[in-house]
Amino acid sequence: MATNKELADLIFPDVKETVEDLEKRYPPRNLPEGAEVTRFAPSPTGFLHTGSLFTALIAYTFAKQTNGVYFFRLEDTDQKREIEGTGLDLVKQLKNFGIVADEGYYGDHEEGNYGPYVQSNRADIYKVVIKDLIRRGRAYPDFCSKEELDQLRLVQEANKVVPGYYGEYAKYRGLTVKEYIDLVKSGKPYVIRFRSLGNPANHIKAHDEIRGDMELTQNYQDIVIYKSDGLPTYHFAHLVDDHFMRTTLVTRGEEWISSLPIHLELFEAMGWKAPKYAHLPVIMVNDKETGNKRKLSKRKDPEAAVSYFLGQGYPKEGVIRYLLTIANSNFEAWMMENPKAPLTDFKLSFNKFSLDGALFDMPKLNNISKELLANMDKKTFSDQCLEWASSYNEELAKLINSDRSKFEAIVNIERDQEKPRKDYEKFSDVLPHIAFFYPDHYDALLKKAPLPFNPFLKKELIKEVLDDFIATFDVEHQDETTWFSKMKELGLRHNFIDDRKVYKKNPTAYNGWYADVISIIRITVSASTQAPKLYDVLKILGKDEVSRRVKEVEAGL
Ligand code: GLU
Repeated sequence: MATNKELADLIFPDVKETVEDLEKRYPPRNLPEGAEVTRFAPSPTGFLHTGSLFTALIAYTFAKQTNGVYFFRLEDTDQKREIEGTGLDLVKQLKNFGIVADEGYYGDHEEGNYGPYVQSNRADIYKVVIKDLIRRGRAYPDFCSKEELDQLRLVQEANKVVPGYYGEYAKYRGLTVKEYIDLVKSGKPYVIRFRSLGNPANHIKAHDEIRGDMELTQNYQDIVIYKSDGLPTYHFAHLVDDHFMRTTLVTRGEEWISSLPIHLELFEAMGWKAPKYAHLPVIMVNDKETGNKRKLSKRKDPEAAVSYFLGQGYPKEGVIRYLLTIANSNFEAWMMENPKAPLTDFKLSFNKFSLDGALFDMPKLNNISKELLANMDKKTFSDQCLEWASSYNEELAKLINSDRSKFEAIVNIERDQEKPRKDYEKFSDVLPHIAFFYPDHYDALLKKAPLPFNPFLKKELIKEVLDDFIATFDVEHQDETTWFSKMKELGLRHNFIDDRKVYKKNPTAYNGWYADVISIIRITVSASTQAPKLYDVLKILGKDEVSRRVKEVEAGL
């Protein structure tokens, strides 16, 4: 009588290795008790989704905080969906956020003893396991054509039964081994399906690290594990990979919960211990039009692609901190209490995972990011800003490189203090704020629009104030208090009173009050009413440039 072993040998004549050989080749890892082996396993379909960055961050953090291993595996078995070269982009973008794997696929090479880490290079490994399943009668070839399967679906829809390949609908499930052998020999194309022993009437208990114990319908579908292109499906590939890469904790999107029964049955069929699973909440947004919650979508939401944050120049740590607020409900409070502590001090935990709170909230990200940028020292700020500008804003990079200490002085205005200025949410906000410090940009601003002087101030008076300001300019030698009182004296010389209350009581008796003087000078040197602390601005510009600007402005009055 024909045996399953003959069938297995017929289908995979060249596969000589056994599952035991693989067990030896990929021995259990030697790690301390409690260390988690986690992975990020994206498909190279074109871009890093914000949800994927979130998933990678969680996997990375759990490995790091348990002294375990975090590896990167490229899941490219669905070659129809693959976009060439995007695997490298994924690695690079994650690296931008400090998420670097301990082993695995690095885009241009691989490192580690549990590889290959690209699924399409693991075909030989999958074949060994599939051959084993066939030999044990737990997998079989299915010769249905696409048309037959389409037809099957129509019948199932008409009969209002669950679609799929199972039980009486599984045309090739019940063949004898001899029939399988004859069909394979006849050259008819086939895929290989898992032979499920489950029953839809049964429930199984499955544990999720976030959701706890779940009761799910047992799998009863004979799913495809090996496609006609010689590659396995996700369900099967992840099983083999996570087993032989010795993954202990799978963190993946909650869209996989419904397939968990399949995965658990596959593990059981192989006699392997399944890893722990944590299904992460999908990141949602409130739709602007309908007001309803929906998934973050690449088509509708720019923030769905990680490249958006990189392009805008969000500080990477700001994005990470924001994602951690989505992950753990206690993270935000921790961050408030420990604003300067490194993120590694925070212990991420599954029981603090927010399940329904995964709502992407741009204003919150902006706030976190603003706070972070305000609290950076000038050097870190300048380094990160230049790094961003070098890729995304040539003009800003040029300005920074032209005089690094000038740039640092500019961004340091009101920075090094208890409550620092919060000017920027992202590095793309920097140039518009500081452009006026640079002569070419200042000249362009002057040309662009009339200066916003108070229309009640006469031009002659503005000129008089500016002339006196230049004649007495000595900010380089004055501390702030001295400069301040000199400016008040200047005001008094031109009938600008130094006391607001006195001015308010009798406004017609004066040209204005002290703040009006400051405003004339601020507008003159910065072409705006919004510039930061004037004393610092003047010091950075220096007497020559300030005089030049005053002349320009006076000429245009
Ligand atoms: N390649 C799968 C995905 O991109 C990975 C799921 C998993 O992490 O197991 O969704």
